[in-house]
Amino acid sequence: MIKNIKSNVEYLTFNNLSGISGVRHAFSTRLGGVSSGIYSSMNLGYTRGDDKACVDENFSRMAAVLGCDMNDFVTGVQTHTTNIRLVTEEDKGKGVVRPVDYSDTDGLITNIPGIVLVTFYADCVPLFFADPVHKAIGLSHSGWRGTVNRMGAATIRAMHDNFDTDPSDLICGIGPCICMDCYEISEDVADVFMKEFPGCLLSAGDTRSDHTFMMPKNDDKYLLDLRAANRLIMIEAGVPAANIELPGICTCCNPSYLFSHRATNGKRGNMAAFLGL
Ligand SMILES: [Zn+2]
Repeated sequence: MIKNIKSNVEYLTFNNLSGISGVRHAFSTRLGGVSSGIYSSMNLGYTRGDDKACVDENFSRMAAVLGCDMNDFVTGVQTHTTNIRLVTEEDKGKGVVRPVDYSDTDGLITNIPGIVLVTFYADCVPLFFADPVHKAIGLSHSGWRGTVNRMGAATIRAMHDNFDTDPSDLICGIGPCICMDCYEISEDVADVFMKEFPGCLLSAGDTRSDHTFMMPKNDDKYLLDLRAANRLIMIEAGVPAANIELPGICTCCNPSYLFSHRATNGKRGNMAAFLGL
């Protein structure tokens, strides 16, 4: 990903998505907003306890960066499901300038120009999808539950069903999330992954492949590489590996630059992923 600064707002973009005409996107950092304290400064979460006026101003700054209007934003309502909403013209503004009238929505897809999809993060994995052939996009939130339930594949299926998307045409980005070294999980979570992805566990001395993304730590703890798992899910769903860009930056390793749930014990704001046509 590339670091960008516009009007003091620092945000990240993907090389591959930047190359598609008619697609705009960004991933926010903590820098360039007006929120203070644990929300300092670019908090985009209305549900974290921050002042609404500050979050409004932060969204307004991101709209300026993206070259869109606050009314173009449509947000998810994230509850670690694999539910995906087909976003239409009448959803414009929901979650930012108007209340949402849907729930349990971790993925958003659309083919309507002008709409900018928005999902929220602080360690979980942002998944960006662009279909340049059918001029359609998808944006999904994938924590460990979303990952084990193959949120990426669910999003691709929804784009196929609604826009006739061929997975081999997709250009994908995996945004900033928690890295493997920082992401310790308990044995019960590891068991769920081993059941869904046989062969995902890396043993001592093994070299990593596309299929191994978890390793034992100690005391019945494991380390999980959510990026590699989500990349594998995209590849298994038909996306060419060369079309998937990875973040190269960890939220938990960089808690003053990015919001991290783990690094702050939950005392934090939200970053947002933005993807529009
Ligand atoms: Zn890390």
